[in-house]
Amino acid sequence: MTIQWYPGHMHKAQKEIKQALHKVDLIIEVVDARIPFSSSNPVIAQLSDFKGLNRPVIKLINKTDLADPNVTELWCDYFEQQQGVKALPVSALQPADLKKLSSLARKLVPGKAAREEAISAMIMGIPNVGKSTIINVLSGRKIAKVGNEPAVTQRQQRIDLLDGLVLFDTPGILWPKIENRNSSYRLAISGAIKDTVLDYDDIAFYLIDFLVAHYSQLLNSQYQLEQLPEETIEIVEAIGKKRGCLKAGGRVDLDKVSKIIINEYRAATLGRVSLETPTMLETESAEVEARVQTKLVEKRARKQKFKKKR
Ligand code: GDP
Repeated sequence: MTIQWYPGHMHKAQKEIKQALHKVDLIIEVVDARIPFSSSNPVIAQLSDFKGLNRPVIKLINKTDLADPNVTELWCDYFEQQQGVKALPVSALQPADLKKLSSLARKLVPGKAAREEAISAMIMGIPNVGKSTIINVLSGRKIAKVGNEPAVTQRQQRIDLLDGLVLFDTPGILWPKIENRNSSYRLAISGAIKDTVLDYDDIAFYLIDFLVAHYSQLLNSQYQLEQLPEETIEIVEAIGKKRGCLKAGGRVDLDKVSKIIINEYRAATLGRVSLETPTMLETESAEVEARVQTKLVEKRARKQKFKKKR
């Protein structure tokens, strides 16, 4: 599974954000608690240090109501080890959680807070992390959503909050270049990628394998499977039978059952499941790095061969 990457738009967005960064005191990056790494954008880490501006970053880990609380705690520790980063786990469904945001912002910009000046923050996040919901809760009204479509021309929006925080909302087109295939799957499972481009069987099989490895009890109890079959396809078929996804002739409708599995995951009827941990990320990053290096060596070898031929 591959994710479209729009280098042109990405470049434009980066430029706009760099310009806007001068007028803000800090950056709020909203991520999805079920996939805090895969829903982060590496560009933001680079931007926060742009030209030595060194803006502090608040990682707003949203949708904690859907994620495994133990894993969310691990992610908070992981992010807070990074220079200038504070993590704030929240659920946009719990407005009390979001109240902590402005006091944290004031702590990070003590000079302005002491002078009782408004603190300005750029809020950003990839699509579906809940950025608009958060802005609506914080502002107490419905703010028009900045477009998430890469092709739409988008403007930054200024939102004045009552408690002295001014938010600059940026368009949600900041997709990272995803080199970790696991991240693509996790983004798809969580709903960050538009369903029309998804192959449901593919992502449901990935999810089942993950659940078998990390949350097998939840899987058993959700689908009342006394014993987990060996093969992924057998598990999916068993779930299909339980959910009545049968085609004429009694064969399991894989597309239908896959959609059910993904939707039940997204709604957390399965339970609170996080799809990645900091330890998994470390292992995967090493694998990705090794693959990138191999590709680089192959590319150089191809270039040499081409030169020799000419
Ligand atoms: P955006 O694309 O980042 O602006 O995301 P939206 O604000 O449109 O939210 C995407 C979906 O996630 C919507 O269906 C929201 O209702 C839902 N959502 C947002 N925040 C939360 C949360 O904390 N918990 C849960 N369960 N759902 C949320």
